[in-house]
Amino acid sequence: MTDARDVTLIPGDGIGPGITVATLAILDAAGVRIRWREHVAGLTAMESVGEPLPAATLASIDETRVALKGPLTTPIGSGFRSVNVALRKHFDLFANVRPAVTLLPNARYPDVDLVIVRENTEGLYAGIEHYIGMENDPRAVAESVMLITRFGSRRIVRFAFEYALSHGREKVTLVHKANILKYTQGLFLDVGREIAREYEGRVAFDDKIVDNTAMQLVLNPYQFDVIVTENMFGDILSDEVAGLIGGLGFAPGANLGENAAIFEAVHGSAPDIAGKGIANPTSLLLAACLMLDHFGDGAVADRIRGALRRTLTEGERLTPDLGGTARTDEFAAAVIDRLPGV
Ligand code: NAD
Repeated sequence: MTDARDVTLIPGDGIGPGITVATLAILDAAGVRIRWREHVAGLTAMESVGEPLPAATLASIDETRVALKGPLTTPIGSGFRSVNVALRKHFDLFANVRPAVTLLPNARYPDVDLVIVRENTEGLYAGIEHYIGMENDPRAVAESVMLITRFGSRRIVRFAFEYALSHGREKVTLVHKANILKYTQGLFLDVGREIAREYEGRVAFDDKIVDNTAMQLVLNPYQFDVIVTENMFGDILSDEVAGLIGGLGFAPGANLGENAAIFEAVHGSAPDIAGKGIANPTSLLLAACLMLDHFGDGAVADRIRGALRRTLTEGERLTPDLGGTARTDEFAAAVIDRLPGV
């Protein structure tokens, strides 16, 4: 086992603290040695220090360069803006990586194993939008700009190819809408084809239009390996893919940039079950496994994923969202019992 590393820990809001305790207990039992530097963000931070993203939290990630993050509550309509988006912007976390692997024995599709690499900073989600007033209506027209840059396209497509190479994956599929959006999506596709040539003979490449991709994922998800796409398409397709393997509870996410990496549960803070001790910690645990992969501790991550798979397959101590009656800590204990050598 390597020396303990420093990692910023943001347990988050709602069910966040409960699933964090469970995840840390499993990591500890698996022999993972991490010095956690715990910090607040989101609603918890708003209530305790009066701001949703305190400077101390940012400074900690600046130092550790790696964070594990539970879900954060974002008020709807008014109040502070999404802290998740602010973190992505602050650290320029341009790549959102969402692997989808079937772990549930009765999932809709067995043996799915694919990864979505989503561009995280550009596209319509760059938030460049305005109203145009006409006559007496100040909001007669609303306009959003889809921002696609050569720089942003190059770095995300290159990231996807490098990811494929380092994770033993064979094919990258670039997903776009270049048939309609000839400038923005056309640039993304052109750049993708240019980068793909550099990897010829090492990683296969094809491209698909986004609407067809959405259907193909349902018809035959096994034809995909790594999908790379722009921000909004990636957002939508990642949730579709999570649905193929049993829902957001089985989907971890990594937000990666040159200078920082934030690993997160992708579901929300689940206010309806917060404080009841029955939340499923799987997504955060899988996010922690992605973090271990990132550190080069893939063997430990695989041991944990194996124990999780056995817990889900044997189905004795499942949380209510999976049809069981176990509490979060009982589920975590079941995973620990199934860790080899524990
Ligand atoms: P949600 O994901 O919190 O909940 C949707 C449903 O899934 C609820 O019924 C909830 O009980 C259930 N659920 C979610 N996670 C679960 C778990 N681990 N175990 C068992 N059941 C689980 O989505 P929402 O209700 O739309 O959002 C609630 C809050 O979370 C909002 O403030 C939203 O902005 C925020 N949110 C945060 C993130 C994030 O931080 N990454 C992501 C999505 C939503």
